[in-house]
Amino acid sequence: MQRSEAPATAAPLPPNEADRLAALHRYGILDTPADPRFDRIVALAARLLDMPIALVSLIDAERQWFKAARGLDVPETPREISFCTHAVADGAMLEVSDALQDKRFVNNPLVTGDPGIRFYAGAPLLDEAGHALGTLCVIDRKPRHLNEEQRALLSDLAGMARDAMQLHRALIEAERAKAEAEYANRAKTNFLAFMSHELRTPLNAVIGFGELMEAEPFGSLGSPRYKHYAGMIVEGGRHLLEVINAILDLTRIETGKFTLQRETMAVGEEVAVVAGLVRVQADAGKVALKLDAGAVGVLPTISADRSAIRQILLNLIGNAVKFTPPGGQVSITGDIWGGKLRLIIADTGAGIAPEDLRRLGEPFFQAGPVMARRAEGSGLGLAITRQLVTLHGGNLEIQSELGKGTTVMVSLPLG
Ligand code: ADP
Repeated sequence: MQRSEAPATAAPLPPNEADRLAALHRYGILDTPADPRFDRIVALAARLLDMPIALVSLIDAERQWFKAARGLDVPETPREISFCTHAVADGAMLEVSDALQDKRFVNNPLVTGDPGIRFYAGAPLLDEAGHALGTLCVIDRKPRHLNEEQRALLSDLAGMARDAMQLHRALIEAERAKAEAEYANRAKTNFLAFMSHELRTPLNAVIGFGELMEAEPFGSLGSPRYKHYAGMIVEGGRHLLEVINAILDLTRIETGKFTLQRETMAVGEEVAVVAGLVRVQADAGKVALKLDAGAVGVLPTISADRSAIRQILLNLIGNAVKFTPPGGQVSITGDIWGGKLRLIIADTGAGIAPEDLRRLGEPFFQAGPVMARRAEGSGLGLAITRQLVTLHGGNLEIQSELGKGTTVMVSLPLG
């Protein structure tokens, strides 16, 4: 219907209509399903003011849409014939005692036809900027008048409806922020996975040809210095490959693409295998590696992913040896604790400061001053280890004292 043809009931537009509409749409509340918070408010309004009809009406561009309705079965009506539009235009409470006596409403189809409105009172729902987004209104089919107390009550209930709207908006915004954060995180993970994969191929070529050059007979490269350089290329390349593989592992776990290949296994045997591997490094660093074979060897079998368990052990025992200075000791034992199988790896090494301990396991986090960080580390091992332990339904606990040593406990479910 054109504005010129609008019935006498049409209310003027509020002066800030575009802003008001934008504010209303930001609530994301139009056309949402029924919400008991609003239903309770209209039920209260109808009961306390003894009215057959009570509505939470929101004034959209072309319609009034009811967020909650008591005593009325339609979801919306055209804006032009809406009483609430008048309250919204004024931003103030509107009371019409007898619509038949008011020339703005006497010809209104809601008066002349269904639902046969005679009495109307609507309190505006004002947002923080003062925009009237709609009303809480009560309607009767006979002429009436509200006393001061009843007007105050209607106004208070409108305040409650406004609070419910704000809560709705806050929930929507929180959900949107969460979805955006999850999207960004997924994009980051996918990017890392893609990059890591693409980097591996050329890197393998660098390492492979570096190894070939390193293996050349002494002097055939023109200068002995080049053999040393080739060795450095290989060493740097291998470290980079390790970091890339760790990133790939972590992204695979984070995207849920990593599934455990469970089998029944004796953890004690895996501990012995990994201790054997790390012993070379321990001997070179003059660290005593003590495996309590009596305790670890008799641990019951569990259902777990063998290569994941090896990765966990290699990281934890490897770290213990790596961060323990010559003359120190790393001991490994195990027991059954709290209904779980527990492995305990204790070292007499550098230890970790309490503020670093809290951040341990964050990807790329390395404890201590930057200069002291080991070139061979990436700060990804513990993040992966923690995830692998969690995937097994277990948990990882780290206790440490700076200068005294670190104890790491891995618990894994039995059976
Ligand atoms: P990195 O590749 O650097 O070893 P990790 O994720 O395995 O990465 O470990 C993260 C950091 O945690 C290490 O850089 C180190 O600062 C600290 N850390 C881990 N294990 C120990 C330990 N046994 N003793 C002291 N510090 C440790």
